[in-house]
Amino acid sequence: MTNIVLNEKACAEYALENLILGSKPTETLGRVARYYYSIGYKKKEIGSLLEDFMLKCDPTINIVKWQATIDKQVNSADKYELIDISGVEITQSEIDKIQQIEGKLLQRLMFTMLCLAKYGNAINPNNNNWVNRKDKEIFSLANITLTTKRQSLLINDLWTMQYIGYSRVVDNININVKIVDNESPTVLYISDFRNLGNQYMRYCGEKYIECECCGKVVKEKHGKQRYCTECATEIDRQKSLERYYKSHNS
Ligand SMILES: [Zn+2]
Repeated sequence: MTNIVLNEKACAEYALENLILGSKPTETLGRVARYYYSIGYKKKEIGSLLEDFMLKCDPTINIVKWQATIDKQVNSADKYELIDISGVEITQSEIDKIQQIEGKLLQRLMFTMLCLAKYGNAINPNNNNWVNRKDKEIFSLANITLTTKRQSLLINDLWTMQYIGYSRVVDNININVKIVDNESPTVLYISDFRNLGNQYMRYCGEKYIECECCGKVVKEKHGKQRYCTECATEIDRQKSLERYYKSHNS
């Protein structure tokens, strides 16, 4: 699952503090390497710091196998600065244009592309409204489940309407979002890049809730719902554990 990080410094510090390599170790290593570089370490020092970090995370790890990855991350530690933005602003004119599109599915897709283009602009001033991600990733962020064929048709619809321009490179599409208008007043602030499609639906007044535990925006399945499915399951598990211990201690 895609994870778009807005604050890489906090993310690197969290990984270092809690010794978490995560499900994408290469990404974590890259972030930690750039973090060390940002606080003044030399590349040579960063290499051994990364090794230490990996061994602390997993003492059984075969560090030799990871050497090439570590070297690569150390080498590019000075290429990109750590991402540190609080979110992106969506403006009235952008929302107006999206709402002129027929159908919520296409609107959701366009909204997601807009957020991604603005994210790209925020982390790279030369981005010029481009989005370069896999179709799969874009549709997952838009909370749209469709066959690849239908995905292409939707993208093509937006292209026909001249909302986007694109060039296709293997399974990636480089999309240029044409509806960015930073001069118009801000109406929505996106500070969480999970479930962008759901966030759009919630903005439109549909029944979506923000999970009180993890903050993710999910479709409301019943009234009084406070948590997303994952958090609700975890909370239930904790509660039954507590009940179990209570009944066995009295
Ligand atoms: Zn949750």
